Amino acid sequence: MSGDDMVFGEVRFREPARLKRPDRDARYACVACQTPGPDDLPVFLDPAPADAIERHALSDTSVELGGVLLGKECVDPASGRPFVWITRSLEAKHYANTQASFTYTHDSWEEITRERDRLHPDLDVVGWYHTHPNFGIFLSHHDLFIHQNFFSQPLQTAYVVDPIQGTRGFFQWADGRMVQVGGFHLCAERSERVALSRLADQMENLPGSSQGGSGLSPRLEAELIKMLSRPAPPVGGPGDRLALAVLLGFLGSLLFLLVATAGFWLSRVDGRLGEQGDALAALKLEVDESASGRKAAVDLLLEKVGGETPELFVERYEKLARARDDARKQLVAQQSVNEALGLRVKDLTSAAGSLGAELDAARKTLAEYEADAKAAPKLRERIAVLESEAAENLREIKDQRAILATKEGENAAATYNSLKVYTLTTYAAGLAALLMGLTAVFFYYRSLAPPPETSHAASRRAP
Ligand SMILES: [Zn+2]
Repeated sequence: MSGDDMVFGEVRFREPARLKRPDRDARYACVACQTPGPDDLPVFLDPAPADAIERHALSDTSVELGGVLLGKECVDPASGRPFVWITRSLEAKHYANTQASFTYTHDSWEEITRERDRLHPDLDVVGWYHTHPNFGIFLSHHDLFIHQNFFSQPLQTAYVVDPIQGTRGFFQWADGRMVQVGGFHLCAERSERVALSRLADQMENLPGSSQGGSGLSPRLEAELIKMLSRPAPPVGGPGDRLALAVLLGFLGSLLFLLVATAGFWLSRVDGRLGEQGDALAALKLEVDESASGRKAAVDLLLEKVGGETPELFVERYEKLARARDDARKQLVAQQSVNEALGLRVKDLTSAAGSLGAELDAARKTLAEYEADAKAAPKLRERIAVLESEAAENLREIKDQRAILATKEGENAAATYNSLKVYTLTTYAAGLAALLMGLTAVFFYYRSLAPPPETSHAASRRAP
């Protein structure tokens, strides 16, 4: 398109209106889209033109479409800085376009001017917009040409929308060049702030919107939705369930076999323990009988020996009694071992699940117990030996007594014989002394007075 087709209005610089910025006016609600920079020209866009441009851009994404932006160029009295407030947009009806360019035609420009004058006489043309279907946000050389020739006012902006990529951006004059601003503001009456927020989310490609004072930010909501909509992990199919059932069945069979084996073994151990218990009882009876019999025999032996008990015999008897007591103690120990084993078996029965180590322990204890049972006959042999020793001792005592009796007899006989010699000697000596006395007395009286009358006495005594 050549410059001849253009209709340039008279070049004049409009005086901006002094107006409070809407984001500092409590009557309005403003939401930032993208990130407006501190040095950018503040651009405020009403929902109506924003929505109209989006719809227009999406109406045909195979070609470039465009139109003009209407509103007010303002100066904020508080800061003295200018801003732009876009309140309307007009679509260009007659245009020459290809997929990669948009050009106002003479007709389209005339029609736009007419419409603006008819519908919005109070509004200024504050810029223009056009679409870049799927090739991003920038100003081509052709776009710059249009802007320089039709929108050269300092506050006039260019708005580019990519309806396929869902991106958009404003461009402003800065030092004679067109540069993109960091962001812009959506602006509406306070009562429309919920719809405004929703629109802002849509324009920033965020799913959902802040509804009814929800505490979540749109981005957080988007993250949550993404997380919640992740595909669930696959549930096990029929094949998996069959495999699981087979596995569980196998494990169950194994467990049953184990428990049955354990029960059989325990019953066998129990039976063997019962047999051993009976054998022990019989052994105890035998030992008791043997012990009492042995005691009676020893008592009899003592009786026979009587009061002349030699110390040697007593000592041997005490030894024998100690051996007997030891035998009884061993018997008691065996019984307690048997009882302990019985308790152990009960424990094992109750804990059939964890057999392993306890099984080995029971086997060991059983082996010890069997060894003890084998030792019992040896005990009996020992008692027999002790009894034979007692009998031998008794024989020795008898022999000793016999020997003692012989010596005593000899001594007594010797003493008797001695006494007999002494007695006879004494008697003989006494008799001799008496005869000598009598003879002495006879001769004494005969010498004194031997009258014949009295001689008869002497003659009588004379032999
Ligand atoms: Zn363009």
